[in-house]
Order: sequence, then C-alpha cells, then structure tokens
Amino acid sequence: MTEATLHTAAVWTEIGFAGAALLALLFVDAPYGRHARPGWGPTMPSRLGWLLMESPAVVLFAGIYALGDRAWQAAPLALAGLWMFHYVHRTLVFPFRMRESGKRMPVVIAAMAFVFNTLNAYVISRWISHLGEYEVSWLWDPRFLVGAALFGIGSGINHRADTVLIGLRRPGETGYRIPEGWLFDRITSPNYFGEILEWFGFAIATWSLAGLAFAVFTAANIGPRAFANRRWYRETFPDYPPERKALIPFVW
Ligand code: NDP
Repeated sequence: MTEATLHTAAVWTEIGFAGAALLALLFVDAPYGRHARPGWGPTMPSRLGWLLMESPAVVLFAGIYALGDRAWQAAPLALAGLWMFHYVHRTLVFPFRMRESGKRMPVVIAAMAFVFNTLNAYVISRWISHLGEYEVSWLWDPRFLVGAALFGIGSGINHRADTVLIGLRRPGETGYRIPEGWLFDRITSPNYFGEILEWFGFAIATWSLAGLAFAVFTAANIGPRAFANRRWYRETFPDYPPERKALIPFVW
C-alpha cells in the first residue's frame, strides 16, 4: 500500500468519524462542561484533560510536519503557521485561561478527543508538508487568500467569544450567567460559529479533501452542541432571550 492510499483511508476514516459524531450527538450531549453528569466512568481534572487531548495537534503535528519533503517551503510553512496559531493557543493557553475551579471531565471524552486529534494531526500535517503540492505561488492564489482571511475572521470570533464566556465567572466561581452583547445577542455559541468558520477557511486555504474532512468533523462535533447549549440555557434561565439562534446568526 502506498502512503497516498493510507492517507486517503485516514481522511475517509475522519469523514466516517464526522458522520458517527453527528449521529451520536443528535441524541446524546457530550458530558463535559455544562453538560457534565455522572455515569461516564472515571473522571480527570478538566484542565489536564484539555492539555492532554489537544497535545497531538501540537506535538505530533510538528514532528510529522518536519519529516515532510516540503516542510521548509514557504507555502506549507504558511499553512502550518495558521494551524499552529490556533493549536498552540488551544493546547497551551486556553486550558489555563478557563475558570474551572476543580471541574472534571470523563476520561473517555479526553481519550476519544486524543484519538481523533492524533488521526487529524497526521492527516493535515502529512498533507501539507509531504503529499500535497504547494508552490510558493500558492501564497497569492485567491483560494489561499480567501481561506486565510476566513480563518482569521473565524479565529478572531472564536477567541473573543471564549474570552467573553470565561470572563462571565469571577475567579473561584463555577456557575453560569447569560452572556450579553455583540454576537451573543444573535446566537448562543459564537465560539463554535467562529471555530467552524475557521476550519472551513483552512479547508479553502489548503484546497484539499484532508482540510475539508476536518472542517466537516468540526461542524458535526460542535454544531449539535450549540443546539444543546441553547436548550440548556432555556431550561436553566427562564429569562433567556427566546429570539437567539443557536449557531448561525439570523438562520439557525
Ligand atoms: P463552552 O462555550 O462550553 O465553554 C467555554 C468556556 O467558557 C468554558 O471554560 C466554560 O466553562 C465557560 N463558560 C461557557 N459558558 C459560560 C457561561 N454562560 N457562564 C460562565 N462560564 C461559561 O465551550 P467548550 O468548552 O465546548 O469549547 C471550548 C473551545 O474549544 C471553544 O472555542 C470550541 O470552539 C473549541 N472546541 C473545538 C472542537 C472541535 O471539534 N474543533 C470541539 C470542542 C471544543 P465550563 O467548562 O465550566 O462549562
């Protein structure tokens, strides 16, 4: 079997995971954060869980990327730069910004995310630095420019939304408040909206099935959670604004 065949199989496995995640999450809310509940086996500190489950996206990605034949060319480096911009923050900064005050998550959630991130780190890094072909001229191709711009906008929305949500708690608190203002007046989960935009932007910037597979997985994974979050707010806060959409302003 050639490596290209193996890689294609990995990409389709990821698309299969997206389908399975979507199906499961239409019926079950992933039991972490506000949806945490007993009955999901042993638990671990949330902060440690985030650090471990996201770590392949930095460590493994960097290692596999560096082994590629085109690792030191400009366009692959630019694409890897977008990736690392997101994942260094998600893995090494975000867990320490959370005000989680001793909250825990099921080990099984961290383990499933770790497996997915391991597969995805291989799929994306190997494509960018070895199997895909990106000449330096890719850097001014409209697909790269539009994709990178969407990635930047999505990243800005995701980061600002997470910052607002984290800031709703004072240090030491663990409860929830209704977020107000900016995109929160339109949708329940601007952080998920931004993240999905980000990875569809990345898919366009890489113009690859590998990039698309990850974007589709992200939408399948956190799209249903935006609806679960809105349902949770409505059940928890009788004064939750009824007009707010879940994920996409004015639409959904
Ligand atoms: P949430 O919106 O559930 O939570 C983000 C942070 O804000 C958590 O620390 C949470 O605390 C806190 N928080 C949220 N709402 C409130 C509120 N109303 N009052 C007080 N504090 C609040 O996001 P997730 O934890 O699901 O995800 C975190 C990040 O990871 C997001 O940017 C998301 O896009 C990304 N992500 C990406 C995935 C992918 O497939 N690419 C998968 C999952 C997440 P607590 O944890 O205690 O609820």
